[in-house]
Amino acid sequence: MEDIKNGSTRKFTCADCGTKACEPADVSKMPSADVCLTRMSDPEQFKALYSDEDKEIALNAARTESQGYCRWTRLEETMAFAYRMGYHRIGIGFCVGLSEEARKLAQILRDNGFEVEAAACKCGSVPKSFIGITREEQLHPDRDFEIMCNPAGQAEVLSAAGCDLCIILGLCVGHDTLFIRHCSAPVTVLTGKDRVMGHNPIAAIYQSDSYLKRVHSFIRDTFGEKGQ
Ligand code: SF4
Repeated sequence: MEDIKNGSTRKFTCADCGTKACEPADVSKMPSADVCLTRMSDPEQFKALYSDEDKEIALNAARTESQGYCRWTRLEETMAFAYRMGYHRIGIGFCVGLSEEARKLAQILRDNGFEVEAAACKCGSVPKSFIGITREEQLHPDRDFEIMCNPAGQAEVLSAAGCDLCIILGLCVGHDTLFIRHCSAPVTVLTGKDRVMGHNPIAAIYQSDSYLKRVHSFIRDTFGEKGQ
């Protein structure tokens, strides 16, 4: 692990491996010890990363996975995980574009005995000028001002409400980053925001060798050769 600790970029990573040999722990099929994260690591190093709470979360995630394997939707798994963990008050951090979905999610959670708190992304009505967005950069430059998404505020509201678990529902890229950073409760993602793919972002990967080949050169095509 020394290379990784030193911050060097490896040319061969688990994403390039494809053997999945770490799951059955079949050393004979694993790549060499200088590239395989399993073979180059002391298992105790990994175990030491887990606090007692982390182990409880991992335990109930694993039990949820096996109990509903290939039968439960992610929504059902989310509720089962929360139930197993004893999380009673659930916070929903949602995008106003998914307000109807948030309303239905809150109802489903309540139908299943959970308490619900929710915060919309535009809560607080802070103008985008606060973060330096100019009028020309607004989604609608013809408007005098636009309201910024406020993921730190959402996280603060849900944390202050004593939520045991927060669910991200359709937050934008980067806004989800801030939500997770600022939320004191554990966070899980029901779905990310993808306005093109029906909030199913992985569809872009499934299409990347056919209708969406453009993703392979997206940065160059969009920002120029230097990616600027
Ligand atoms: S840990 Fe080793 S076997 Fe597992 S995916 Fe990474 S390189 Fe492959």
